[in-house]
Amino acid sequence: MTSQAPTPRRVLVAKPRGYCAGVDRAVQAVEKALERYGAPIYVRKQIVHNTHVVKTLEERGAVFVDETEEVPEDAIVVFSAHGVSPAVHHEAARRRLRTIDATCPLVTKVHNEARRFAAQDYDILLIGHEGHEEVEGTAGEAPERVRLVDGIDAVGTVQVKDPSRLVWLSQTTLSVDETTQTVSRLKERFPNLLDPPSDDICYATQNRQVAVKEIAARAQLVIVVGSSNSSNSKRLVEVALDHGADASHLVDDASFIKDEWLEGVTTVGLTSGASVPEELVAGVLAHLAARGFADVEEIESVHENVRFALPHELRKDLRVTTA
Ligand code: SF4
Repeated sequence: MTSQAPTPRRVLVAKPRGYCAGVDRAVQAVEKALERYGAPIYVRKQIVHNTHVVKTLEERGAVFVDETEEVPEDAIVVFSAHGVSPAVHHEAARRRLRTIDATCPLVTKVHNEARRFAAQDYDILLIGHEGHEEVEGTAGEAPERVRLVDGIDAVGTVQVKDPSRLVWLSQTTLSVDETTQTVSRLKERFPNLLDPPSDDICYATQNRQVAVKEIAARAQLVIVVGSSNSSNSKRLVEVALDHGADASHLVDDASFIKDEWLEGVTTVGLTSGASVPEELVAGVLAHLAARGFADVEEIESVHENVRFALPHELRKDLRVTTA
């Protein structure tokens, strides 16, 4: 009797995945601040939405707070990659805090657009998730002008002052496809709606969605490494399900993977959100290899080569140190 060869089990790993330039810059800002000034360094909110990154920085002396009022006067506070409203900057200045602004430059770009359109008397339809820190920061640039549109279902109810003077902007980490649908529904309701000067959904969010689409079409299961409060990571799960995966799960790390997810699966797709260190992906690969998924292929959809300089407050001091 001939024994049947076992079915080959493989992993398709999406590229690009993991850290984007904005997250890399924000995490480095806290690390360099700890090196340059010593602990404690206060950080308003999670510097990036990843549990492991936050825990690692905490172990090195970062103290995460919800609001600047929790930071002692004259201490150093870092603002997270998601950005803050002008009110937070003013409060920090009033309390004489030394600030390092690690807001991603691509979030700052949306803030600038919000300010500019508000100054030109436009109402701004901001497509984004209610309560997300980035949305709160952007809306805070022109609270009297910004109307939040949280998904396609909100299109019918949003109220504006003047439908002839209207622009839409968005959170940087949304689903590209869903946002396109939301915008076209908004344009049915408001035919004079103006587009932003350039994409607000950032290059990293877009590229990770393109890459996950490619592996989702060829995998029964797509595992997305990322934390549950990470908007771009959650969107990757949705995009994978919309583009061919039978199942998709968000996991903080390999320990969250359930063996039953792998039953009957021959091809697993793997990717990670923009705030996820590569070591967590390596941990998932090792976990899968131990369960027979040793054949690994990386599928590169887009070549990424973006870097941002460290926040200027830090660059200034680091230059002095190394001079
Ligand atoms: S996901 Fe995009 S907007 Fe957010 S930090 Fe990364 S590059 Fe910046």
